[in-house]
Amino acid sequence: MDLYEYQASERFRAAGMRTNQGVVAETPEAARAAAEQIGGPVIVKAQVHTGGRGKAGGVKLAASPAEARDRAGAILGMEIKGLRVRKVLVAPAEDIVSEAYAGVLVDREAQCAVMMVSAEGGVDIEEVAARDPGAIHKVRVDPRYGLLAHQARFLAGRLYSDKALARQGAKAIAQLYDAFVESGASMAEINPLVVNGAGEVVALDAKMSIDDNELFRLPEIEAMRDAGAEEPASRQARAAGLSFVKLSGAVGCCVNGAGLAMATMDLVKYYGGEPANFLDIGGSSSPDKVVAALEIITTDPDVKAILFNIFGGITRCDDVAKGIVEATSRVGLEVPLVIRLTGTNEALAKDILAEAGFQFASSMDDVVEKAVNLASA
Ligand code: GDP
Ligand code: MN
Repeated sequence: MDLYEYQASERFRAAGMRTNQGVVAETPEAARAAAEQIGGPVIVKAQVHTGGRGKAGGVKLAASPAEARDRAGAILGMEIKGLRVRKVLVAPAEDIVSEAYAGVLVDREAQCAVMMVSAEGGVDIEEVAARDPGAIHKVRVDPRYGLLAHQARFLAGRLYSDKALARQGAKAIAQLYDAFVESGASMAEINPLVVNGAGEVVALDAKMSIDDNELFRLPEIEAMRDAGAEEPASRQARAAGLSFVKLSGAVGCCVNGAGLAMATMDLVKYYGGEPANFLDIGGSSSPDKVVAALEIITTDPDVKAILFNIFGGITRCDDVAKGIVEATSRVGLEVPLVIRLTGTNEALAKDILAEAGFQFASSMDDVVEKAVNLASA
């Protein structure tokens, strides 16, 4: 789950970090009032789940409350990378002396968190990594000990030669790591981490992705979820306990188990098709889950054929077959459905499907090739 900047910066402040705390506004008038309350020049920032807002025109300085209202009027409703802006953050504008980058993420290859900094902040860090990888400094964090003081000092030393600044930088870096751990994050980033006119190190941006598997123990972060910004299909899937990822192809896939889902997507590509989604109905699937899955897949107008690929282990093929029959009678399918069921209670499933007029195969190749052909027909 991604947090908005204003939420991530709240997490940073909870760890003691200095940020330019602002006020969230949903209307131009509220932005004006916020600017008046803050006093002095402000920055008006689009709150969307993506970076690159500055380049897209979603971050603007305003010298007065009236200007803040006008800036907010232009930013609210704007679309940034396909995301509609429904909130802005109005924050005190800082004088920027220098901009740096600090981030931490779970590095699967290193099998631990990796903390990174670069003195080239305020720009796209992926761009820096491609152009000048030496400008990014990294340390691996041993989860048994956390970020050690000397590691934070080492990183801060790559950002600031001035001792007082380096001390502040080390503190901010340690606080970033604390916020990352305490929020169950998979990524946390400050870009830019600035030195302001008063010689203070301040986080002017905040980005954080939370590991969904951590949310059960962090109700205050779960409460930050903005259900309105989620794709309806993702919301439905989460409510039904299905793991779902929307993709851009035409073959809707309904599979049990992440491994089989990936193998199925590989085979769809092998036969020249593109999967429309990744949908794992999980083990021990009840007919209800199958109904929910089909409802989710059929709301995607890009889906031209639906492929069921079920291996019955704990999952019983007859449960899935019942779900398919029930769902198709309820949803009214407009696209062809191809089914492969194999394993536990396969014979029962065959009878249920045959009675309802469905065909099915037991070879994965056959069924995938057929679905790809139907989707491209
Ligand atoms: P992003 O483009 O989505 O990463 O949004 P940021 O929050 O990083 O803002 C983009 C840029 O706006 C930053 O890199 C800064 O250069 C600038 N910016 C952000 N806050 C301030 C501020 O308080 N004062 C000034 N002068 N510039 C700011
Ligand atoms: Mn930024």
